Amino acid sequence: MTRISPDWLASAPAHAVCAALEGGGHQAWFVGGCVRNALLGEEATDLDITTDARPERVIALVEAAGLRAVPTGIEHGTVTVVAGGRGFEVTTFRRDVETDGRRAVVAFSDSMEEDAARRDFTMNALYCGIDGAVVDPVGEGLADLAARRVRFIGDDEERIREDYLRILRFFRFHAWYGGDRIDPEGLAACAALAEGVEGLSRERIGHEVMKLLAAPDPAPAVASMAASGVLMRVLQGANPATLAPLVHLEGLAGEAPDPVLRLAALGGHEGGRPLRLSKPQMRALEILSRSVEEAKSAAELGYRLGRDMARKALLLRGAVMGVPPLEGDFAAIETGAKAVCPVSAKDFMPALEGAALGRALAEAEARWVASGFSLTRENLLS
Ligand code: ATP
Ligand code: MG
Repeated sequence: MTRISPDWLASAPAHAVCAALEGGGHQAWFVGGCVRNALLGEEATDLDITTDARPERVIALVEAAGLRAVPTGIEHGTVTVVAGGRGFEVTTFRRDVETDGRRAVVAFSDSMEEDAARRDFTMNALYCGIDGAVVDPVGEGLADLAARRVRFIGDDEERIREDYLRILRFFRFHAWYGGDRIDPEGLAACAALAEGVEGLSRERIGHEVMKLLAAPDPAPAVASMAASGVLMRVLQGANPATLAPLVHLEGLAGEAPDPVLRLAALGGHEGGRPLRLSKPQMRALEILSRSVEEAKSAAELGYRLGRDMARKALLLRGAVMGVPPLEGDFAAIETGAKAVCPVSAKDFMPALEGAALGRALAEAEARWVASGFSLTRENLLS
């Protein structure tokens, strides 16, 4: 019997939610990412619970126990239960009745086995009770997780045809939890059905791609995506060869993974159907992509973009050009980021105004930057 004992499982809110369901004569199982990650000794992102209780019953039971229920996805059987300031996604056991490759029509089920069979990968279909005992209804999840094999449950192609997003999830989970060797059957199925990702919404694709690119080292998974013909269908014109050098440079510089920076290195986000990203992500992507073309000095990058963005721009340029940044470049960024321009609009007023004022100021600022921030206010105004 495999047991886990992560902090969240011992917490009072986790016990309160499970007690409310079990007290009503129902089952309560933690499932998916939180169980998988606990087995790997990693943090949980979200806490998912699955139960044989129907959603209305879940709401009644947890409210009777003094907890708050928010019907966040009631049509899929999901109720978010808030306990001790933490959210638990409680979803009724489900089975797929109909699938069109984009979203499944689900029916509620009374059985954990059916619920497990509709999940994507064996390592994502592990369950644990409040006592920490792990259940593996598919019978392959624990062994696959130990061997770091990301494998589809059941027939690979059939599972992909039900929901083409699973192609992207395959690469995402491989990047995060897979070993050196990607599952050959899963990969072959993704390659055979790659075209199917084109029918997915840009939001869903963007979400999965960004999660993939946030992995500690997504380069091998992205290389497999490219080789199987999936990459060019989500990022037309992307160059997968820039990713490994970027990840290497990030490691040397001690830079935390940033999916936007990785996407900027890959490129291809503008061709075809662009990914739908958040506004801040789009802005950062634009700034980084532009910085590669502009070839500014490290000091100027620091001044114009600020420390954090400038460091990313420097790494990006290093990866794309194949010329690693120097120690001195990082120091120059620090200097540039702290530099304060000695002239301001006031210095040109009232003699100049409007566009002319803007031009004069920009020109003075450019001279000051070009001087390595050494020209003084007097120099610039004379
Ligand atoms: P993360 O830590 O990234 O959140 P996760 O395993 O919790 O990983 P989610 O995307 O949150 O991943 O999904 C939760 C669970 O729901 C998965 O572990 C899997 O069992 C199931 N699941 C999610 N999406 C799908 C899908 N498209 N097809 C089949 N099962 C899915
Ligand atoms: Mg999750």
